[in-house]
Amino acid sequence: MTVTSLALANLGTSRSNAIAFIGLGAMGREMASNLFTKSLNSQGSEPSPTFIVCDAMPEAAATFARNFQQLHPGVQINVVDTPAEAAELASVIITMLPSSPQVNQVYLTSESGILPGVLKALSSPAGTKPEDLKTLAIDSTTLDVSTAKDVAQRVAKEAQISMVDAPVSGGVVGAAAGTLSFMVGGPASSFDLAKPYLEKMGKTIVHCGDSGTGLAVKICNNLILGINQVAVAEAMLLGTSLGLSPSLLASVINNSTGRCWPSAVNNPIPGALPGQSPPCERDFKGGFAAKLMLKDMNLALNAADSVGVPLPLGNSSVKLYEDVTKDQDLAGRDFSVVFRHLQKLQEGQQ
Ligand code: NAD
Repeated sequence: MTVTSLALANLGTSRSNAIAFIGLGAMGREMASNLFTKSLNSQGSEPSPTFIVCDAMPEAAATFARNFQQLHPGVQINVVDTPAEAAELASVIITMLPSSPQVNQVYLTSESGILPGVLKALSSPAGTKPEDLKTLAIDSTTLDVSTAKDVAQRVAKEAQISMVDAPVSGGVVGAAAGTLSFMVGGPASSFDLAKPYLEKMGKTIVHCGDSGTGLAVKICNNLILGINQVAVAEAMLLGTSLGLSPSLLASVINNSTGRCWPSAVNNPIPGALPGQSPPCERDFKGGFAAKLMLKDMNLALNAADSVGVPLPLGNSSVKLYEDVTKDQDLAGRDFSVVFRHLQKLQEGQQ
């Protein structure tokens, strides 16, 4: 069911007590579920907030609403067609989108974007409560640092929106468990406003500095992660090709200076980590998709270009992830599948 502005107005909802979530994909639906559940006010005298959801794929929003209402009978989830409607109706907006083009589109598109939606709310009839005219926007998308800064600056200037970039680490499992880590960029006052909402979706909330710095931290971390996963794939393939058992090799590395998250948690050879179950043991299904790792590493290359920083290892790792993701079947599998790509190269040389 899609709720029009008129219908929501009839519900008598107040903008300052409404939360909108835009982008109900793999991460967003889990984050929205935790945020809404923990925002329900079951005992107090204050009414629970109104919940609004929106997705470019209407079925994604409708499915979220159906599933949430099954878990919480009696709670209304309002599905709207455009980010503008969501922003007109809610003073707190969280976005979780694929990358920079979608963030630009969702925030800035004329008529259907968040910016025109907030401007419409600001032009509401006299007598509207001041708290109904304040807007907080939290963007948890992993996107380009410069796009994030530009969007935050523009919405602040044109519609007094307090905006933070708040990318996450922790993946779908952390999103479902409400244990995400948020790296937050934006003015301290906006961080303070965002923190109570982020705490409902995550465990570690770090204010990194001004707008764009949350993304800078996220991108640097994933640059290391992407490179380390390649290094572990190389070492595990070399060691096992020299006759070592995967579990012995992994165990020595993990007690030595080569230890890192890809060697100790995301090792790419089944059986290398007894008692653990990394994605390679499920044919690399689940986990963090190789195409998302490629996206994040390209964001690092773009950011490095903007400040003239050389990334020799970043560049050569990106080439490998590009090769991996040319195979449609591998692109959606966990990025540790880069090991399988090296195996294929080895087979080709024999
Ligand atoms: P996803 O593709 O599953 O979800 C994105 C959602 O946004 C989809 O439902 C899509 O329909 C919606 N969308 C796209 N364009 C839209 C628009 N113009 N208006 C409204 N909705 C729109 O992606 P995801 O895995 O949930 O990842 C989201 C973000 O989180 C990405 O930036 C990703 O890099 C980052 N991230 C993902 C993971 C992970 O493990 N999946 C981990 C950390 C960070």
